[in-house]
Amino acid sequence: MKLGVKIAVVAGLALTACMAEDDATQADDAAEEVTDEPDVSEVSQEVVAPPHTVYVNFGGGTFTDCDACSLSASNRSWVVGTVFKKSSITLGAAFAGLPARRASIMSYLRHVYYKYNVQFVESRPASGNYTMVVVTPETIRDDLSGYSPIDCGNASRMDIAFVWNAKTSDPLYPDQLAKLVAHELGHSFGLEHVVGNAADLMLAGGRDAAHTFSTSTLLEANRCEPGNPRQDGHARLVAGLGHQTAAPPAPTGPFGGPVSWNQVWLNWSAPSSQIVAGYIVRRNGVVVSWQPNPVGPGFVDANLPESN
Ligand SMILES: [Zn+2]
Repeated sequence: MKLGVKIAVVAGLALTACMAEDDATQADDAAEEVTDEPDVSEVSQEVVAPPHTVYVNFGGGTFTDCDACSLSASNRSWVVGTVFKKSSITLGAAFAGLPARRASIMSYLRHVYYKYNVQFVESRPASGNYTMVVVTPETIRDDLSGYSPIDCGNASRMDIAFVWNAKTSDPLYPDQLAKLVAHELGHSFGLEHVVGNAADLMLAGGRDAAHTFSTSTLLEANRCEPGNPRQDGHARLVAGLGHQTAAPPAPTGPFGGPVSWNQVWLNWSAPSSQIVAGYIVRRNGVVVSWQPNPVGPGFVDANLPESN
């Protein structure tokens, strides 16, 4: 679609140039057509899709059973009947009065999903579609820690996922709890479990899983795609959510200082989820060192060559 419009605009410009030689009046008409360019703004809106909103519900509420539905805005889910064995369930608030603990989970989620076009909010959106993950201190079931519909292809943007035992006294808190919230959301975005490979956050059981989604193809426990029992978590998330399109904030306070003739110390400040793509060290304008993906927010480069 984007490509098509680009071609159309280029063709329009070519038309203008051609007709300018032949007929000034018609050339003006053609120029007006190009100046109009309503297609460009329309396409911009299509290409830059709105982010998939995830409401992290720490406030609890009453959730009611329904027949095969999962509807965040009305707190209705088939999980209440099928998994919790209830017609309705009232869940308490997690980390009430402890905003820093809620913030740490929000920060973790933004870190895990930073590559994808998804935004996390702590307040229920007033309108529009959103996925909701309910984080509650209640122990709903002893044999599980969380539950989400597996939404193959991320077909719905109104799913409800649940994570329980969200207590500061629980051994799951805080790292495993945050990982569990990210894992259940992965199911709601269409990811299945992967088997026997801890390189992916969707490892069944999850506690030893990585804090990220693999870019490799891993064996699934079940299948969203019959006949293809494999899953590339990253690829499936890109298909279901799209790439993150918002520019990250720039690092602040970059600083460099000499340590010795062949060492330089570099430092910067950045949000916890932000990495720096690389650095270049120049001496008198000559590149003497560079490194992709340095571990921030500060380090010493000890491999500079002798001064030249
Ligand atoms: Zn799972």
